Amino acid sequence: MNEVLLRLEELLFLSAPEVAVVSVNEDDEATIRIGVSCRAAGAVCPGCGAWSSRVHGSYQRFPADLPCAGRRVVLCLHVRRFTCVDALCNRRTFAEQVPGLTRRHSRWTERLRSALAEVGLALAGRAGARIADVFGISVSHSTVLRLVEALPDPRPRTPRVLGVDEYAMRKGRVYGTVLVDVETGRPVDLLPDRESATLAAWLSKRPGIEVICRERAPFFAEGARTGAPTAALQVADRFHLWHNLGEAAERCVSRHRACLRVPFTLPRQESAKAPQAADGSTTSPWPTGHRFADRTREKHAIVHALLAEGHSRRAIGRQLHMTHRTVKRLADAAAPEELFHGQ
Ligand SMILES: [Zn+2]
Repeated sequence: MNEVLLRLEELLFLSAPEVAVVSVNEDDEATIRIGVSCRAAGAVCPGCGAWSSRVHGSYQRFPADLPCAGRRVVLCLHVRRFTCVDALCNRRTFAEQVPGLTRRHSRWTERLRSALAEVGLALAGRAGARIADVFGISVSHSTVLRLVEALPDPRPRTPRVLGVDEYAMRKGRVYGTVLVDVETGRPVDLLPDRESATLAAWLSKRPGIEVICRERAPFFAEGARTGAPTAALQVADRFHLWHNLGEAAERCVSRHRACLRVPFTLPRQESAKAPQAADGSTTSPWPTGHRFADRTREKHAIVHALLAEGHSRRAIGRQLHMTHRTVKRLADAAAPEELFHGQ
């Protein structure tokens, strides 16, 4: 029997070599009780740090441990209370703790506590409590959340490649700055505004950044220049490169639209839409059916229809999710063709 208990000690308490297994019992069909005691000669007083081996008394604790073979495991821990040998210490007696296995007032072993915290991190409160129940650990969802909250905050490492972009708290009005570790794809921090000074102050505290990947807004450029003047290489991010290229290509095509051969005849319906000059030819180089022109005509018509109904420009902007500038541009143009580049 002793050999079995010694084997159990090796298997179950490898990380706590001071623990001795003294008994293993079945409490009922669902619970295993393992009797353990600490074999250290004494303990360190948590009040003054003095070592003491003067036993004052003992009692039993029953911390729950990780389940085994589908059964709950409860330790019957024989705990000694020692008398502090330092006469000046304000603790007369203190209870021993098994390093890595128990802590004061906890009804769980340390490994069960960290396992529940991991479950909470992955699944949060309610789902975490449900899955813990499946494994035989009875815990409430609020306790799972408390365990997650008690974990120390992870210290984010300084990213090598930092992505800088803006985000809207109120679109068109209030913007902040989001900072992302480009290599891991994880957000690093949120800045409350998009001022260059704020970004520069943030960068100056993190000297390890090698590349700053940003959009072309001047405040980000200035912030990156001031905050990381020598170390960081500044590059434009892929999304904004494609976006800018797309816009430039659209502008270029619209400017040279007149160079393209106009279809021989326009359908009757379309020619009605495109404005006609006195000699009957189409004045616009944008025949209907062109994506950009149609979109602009449609927006122009909607904005002017709403204006005619008596809506304010501000209300139109809110309704159509347009910035004030876009609404003004559409409202100020008498005809949609005024909005086309290369006219
Ligand atoms: Zn003490």
